[in-house]
Amino acid sequence: MRDILPPESARWRYFVDCFAAAAGGAGYGQVIPPLLEDIGVFTRLGEATDVVTKEMYDFTDKGGRHIALRPEQTASVCRAFVEHRPTLPFKAWYAGSNFRYEKPQRGRYRQFDQVGVEALGSNDPHLDVEVISIAWDFFADLGLQKVTLVVNSLGDPDDRDRYTRAVADYFNANSDDLSEESRATLSRNPLRLLDSKRPAEAEIVAGAPSIVEFWSPEALSHFDSVRAGLESLGIPFVVDERLVRGLDYYRRTTFEFRGGTLDSAQNALGGGGRYDGLIEDLGGPATPGVGFALGVDRTLLACDDEGVFVAPDVGAQLFIIDTTGGEHALLLSTVLRRAGYRVDRAFDSRSMKAQMKAADRSGAALALIIGDEEAASDQITLRPMYAGGDQTVIPTSDLLATVSNLINTVETPNPGEQ
Ligand code: AMP
Repeated sequence: MRDILPPESARWRYFVDCFAAAAGGAGYGQVIPPLLEDIGVFTRLGEATDVVTKEMYDFTDKGGRHIALRPEQTASVCRAFVEHRPTLPFKAWYAGSNFRYEKPQRGRYRQFDQVGVEALGSNDPHLDVEVISIAWDFFADLGLQKVTLVVNSLGDPDDRDRYTRAVADYFNANSDDLSEESRATLSRNPLRLLDSKRPAEAEIVAGAPSIVEFWSPEALSHFDSVRAGLESLGIPFVVDERLVRGLDYYRRTTFEFRGGTLDSAQNALGGGGRYDGLIEDLGGPATPGVGFALGVDRTLLACDDEGVFVAPDVGAQLFIIDTTGGEHALLLSTVLRRAGYRVDRAFDSRSMKAQMKAADRSGAALALIIGDEEAASDQITLRPMYAGGDQTVIPTSDLLATVSNLINTVETPNPGEQ
């Protein structure tokens, strides 16, 4: 588990703000579910899911309840829906931390953040397309250009069950070629073997049956509409018949966004799909749903690799240097902050030189200097911290107007210079 410090934390917050704008712009409202849920909320995701069986942080609380730190948020949002029954369609977005006891490495942590959406209450394939396009456009807003969208359909529950049996039969017949770990996966969750990243198993995985032969006419027609919708929007995608995704609850559409720069084991920036059936499993009325989750950590790594989406500048605009030992810095910083500026200052009556150094480090555009001379004449020295600016001395009464002019000059580049 990591600490996120400035300036990365500012980038992190900005990332969530951008996502909020993307989802909010499509009619999704934020849901803030608790970090802890009754363990039953997650075990319903599937007893064969690694996230649930191997990776969950679960414990008994002081009241004797068996609870878990959420490993993902789809189940929490669905549980909230079942509990509060908002009107349909219910379109929600979320952002926040999840916890999985995984082997930590670059792009894989035990506490990691996701942003995501869930849309409940419609079977319309255009809703699948809407959800996918929100993520696609969001990646574009971040500036990412090397993201690949991979789509598949797992068919209807019957199709998926028949397919799972066929895949199990196939791997059982070839189990001599599987590693011991894969044989264990085979007995628990045969479809997960299709995700195997072991080079020695690549050939046998490639020969496994394809879901395509198992799609019902309805599932195929749904998938055709999703593909047609994506094409209409000009969103490029590849179909991967082996895309099953980790969680067991997906039906019909599944999709994944892969980054172009990360190792293949960590290149899934996010994904999702349709999970008709999950709301019923959680005790609600039959309600279809579709959604996705994007990993914040991993998407930001992809941004680093592509050199896009840098941290926004949220540092001080103004820095106050007060060498009088009086209250000038205290009063001025408060007045300027109340006027809406980001203002920092030095403490501990440090020397002019030390305070100038601090001003430099703060990244502020303008230093406001009050020494004994300025204090005696009710003036302030303004020293621009950027090249080419002239130092001026102004009456304190002109401060707000002058600062406003100077900051505007610094922060609004001429159109020709952009
Ligand atoms: P999942 O909920 O497993 O479908 O994961 C969706 C996305 O969340 C993945 O594509 C990753 O970007 C991210 N993610 C999942 N697990 C982790 C983890 N342990 N550390 C960092 N990101 C993760």
